[in-house]
Amino acid sequence: MALHKGPAKPDERPLSVNPFFGEANPVGGMTEAPPKHRMPDAPISPSTAYQLVHDELMLDGNSRLNLATFVTTWMEPQAAVLMAECRDKNMIDKDEYPRTAELERRCVAMLADLWNAPDPSAAVGCSTTGSSEACMLAGMALKRRWSKRNPTATTRPNLIMGVNVQVCWEKFCNFWEVEARLVPMEGERYHLDPQAAAGLCDENTIGVVGILGSTFDGSYEPIADLCAALDALQERTGLDVPVHVDGASGAMVAPFLDEDLVWDFRLPRVASINTSGHKYGLVYPGVGWALWRDKEALPEELVFRVNYLGGDMPTFALNFSRPGAQVVAQYYTLLRLGREGYRAVQQSTRDVARGIAEKVEALGDFRLLTRGDELPVFAFTTAPEVKAYDVFDVSRRLRESGWLVPAYTFPPNREDLSVVRVVCRNGFSEDLAELFMDDLTRLLPELRRQSGPSPRDAGAATGFHH
Ligand SMILES: *Cc1c(COP(=O)(O)O)cnc(C)c1O
Repeated sequence: MALHKGPAKPDERPLSVNPFFGEANPVGGMTEAPPKHRMPDAPISPSTAYQLVHDELMLDGNSRLNLATFVTTWMEPQAAVLMAECRDKNMIDKDEYPRTAELERRCVAMLADLWNAPDPSAAVGCSTTGSSEACMLAGMALKRRWSKRNPTATTRPNLIMGVNVQVCWEKFCNFWEVEARLVPMEGERYHLDPQAAAGLCDENTIGVVGILGSTFDGSYEPIADLCAALDALQERTGLDVPVHVDGASGAMVAPFLDEDLVWDFRLPRVASINTSGHKYGLVYPGVGWALWRDKEALPEELVFRVNYLGGDMPTFALNFSRPGAQVVAQYYTLLRLGREGYRAVQQSTRDVARGIAEKVEALGDFRLLTRGDELPVFAFTTAPEVKAYDVFDVSRRLRESGWLVPAYTFPPNREDLSVVRVVCRNGFSEDLAELFMDDLTRLLPELRRQSGPSPRDAGAATGFHH
């Protein structure tokens, strides 16, 4: 989480209490406004506390207009009820809450089947707080397998990935002291190149990460070609390098919309896959999944068996306690939608993405990098002849109408390229998409009248792009 510092000025003004709240008087028990940066000395009433917190949160953005995030911002009321019913359940108390544990197990089994594990009963997996934790676990398994193969190695191990990887992989490499070997972008290729990835491998390579799909532009990386390049490498050199697929978004899109695309456990080289249940898995934030094709892919010594809560359930996790509600919500959604339901939801999201991508292109000012036909995400930049404004102006001006659409610069070797990215999610309907297009179209004449792009801090992006 954000690493926060204490208050800049210790004597900042206290929270202001509206006399209407009713209890801000000695009779109600509260004589003074509570401070912001220090615990109040005495309790205040629940209704006043609620109102103070509620009012402050009004200034948070409207999550449905947030086209920056991949994370679910709408669920059905029934899902919300189930989550409320489970808010006291701790995922780690497998013995206390055996049914929650059972629903987690069923989710893993469903995903193993969805991702074509050759023997779903041999696949192992767990829920996590999100893809980041899932990627840490998958990376740890790769690293441990490598060190078991090379017990006397003294060199730092390395992990191969495209420069477009999500920041969780940089974290993994930093935290677990693994060298990140990054395949740069080249020309119109905005993600990993299989040959270049294979070329970076050596005897200290713990694995290669392939992304389905890239957070930078929504494109799928060529997982099957990557595996083929690594097969060829093995034939030439004997190096047997496993692949992890970071399917944070795509692992819950491709199985429904791109059934012919072979990217999952059908490829023998794919050792593990992660996804974010809270992205296209359609669950509110707080759940991810990590699966390994079989026991060999997940070294046994990384698995902990704790019995002091009763029972003896194997676990693989960074956290100990964790809320169970999201796991229950994931099971609910898988059960509720089924394959047909997921297909319909993802298809309509893809249709929305492709529809607006086309309309953005038709405006004439922009060049599309992607068209929303892989992840329902597209990225665009200004056409070469557009000199009056840049993508950062587009992002800033859209924000005035409430739309959160990030603009950012690409990594090596395309630092010259800046894009705007639109992430379509379930709940961003045709109607909302039309309103978005209206706002963008209305802005254009003003943008075109600018005398040049507005100055901004060098390298500044206008929103996260995870
Ligand atoms: C979002 C994302 C992550 C991180 O996932 P969280 O669930 O937010 O922790 C990792 N990899 C990719 C490709 C992503 O899109």
